[in-house]
Amino acid sequence: MRLPAAPTVAALVLVSLAGCASAPVTGRNQFLLVPESQAINASRQAYSDTLAPLQKEGKVNNDPALRARVERITSRLIPQAIRYRPETQAWDWQIAVIDDPKTINAWCMAGGRMAIYTGLIQQIRPSDDEIAEVMGHEISHALAKHAAERMSVALASNGALQVTVALLGSNGNNPAVQQALQQAANVAISLPNSRGQESEADRIGIELAARAGYDPAAAVTLWQKMVKATGSAGKSDWLSTHPSGEKREQALAALIPQMLPYYLDKSERPVYPLKQH
Ligand SMILES: [Zn+2]
Repeated sequence: MRLPAAPTVAALVLVSLAGCASAPVTGRNQFLLVPESQAINASRQAYSDTLAPLQKEGKVNNDPALRARVERITSRLIPQAIRYRPETQAWDWQIAVIDDPKTINAWCMAGGRMAIYTGLIQQIRPSDDEIAEVMGHEISHALAKHAAERMSVALASNGALQVTVALLGSNGNNPAVQQALQQAANVAISLPNSRGQESEADRIGIELAARAGYDPAAAVTLWQKMVKATGSAGKSDWLSTHPSGEKREQALAALIPQMLPYYLDKSERPVYPLKQH
């Protein structure tokens, strides 16, 4: 993982000139230098770059039962995401199960491309409700444009001023701009989310899962299991990109009463037709 250098003052000035926006759903102020459409384009490439070598080794979707389980859960979460942001109906929603027992990780890129690693399944042993909390949380990062936000940070921090200026001049199709965006996308995947982004994803994720019919109490047990499984063993990829405050469990627990009516609602839950790939 390559961490960007400290932001230059000039880059920060540009960011402050260009990047003010409000996060969807929560209205938190965000610095968005990179438009979401650019983040989605760059993520498309990052997704195939990530999966192609694994596919060659036969490590993608090689367990039909696990794949079916994960797809059954995510196909219920996606309609709830679309309910929040109807334009995400046009996203290329899909999920890959990556056979990597050592990696406890899951993500959802800008544009709806997701993955979950077998390490998370084998080491955390999550219930369906807990998988729904993991993926609901990941989808929420994408819904709230956190990838575009992290790409903006990566761009500014690399001091890519020419690129930044080109972007501001709506010259987003310039090859140099595209290359810098691709680099920023690749860096952004491994950059940790901020605490603000984390609590935003927690808040949206628990509601997506509850509305999809998954028990909000699982948000709390998931984090307990995650910390227990990875606390002594050291690093988990997921925890390294999802920094956790001590108060996270309490904050999630406090949301449960509000979420129960969604969870207990007996109406039929919509299911998204996930593309087979
Ligand atoms: Zn997170």
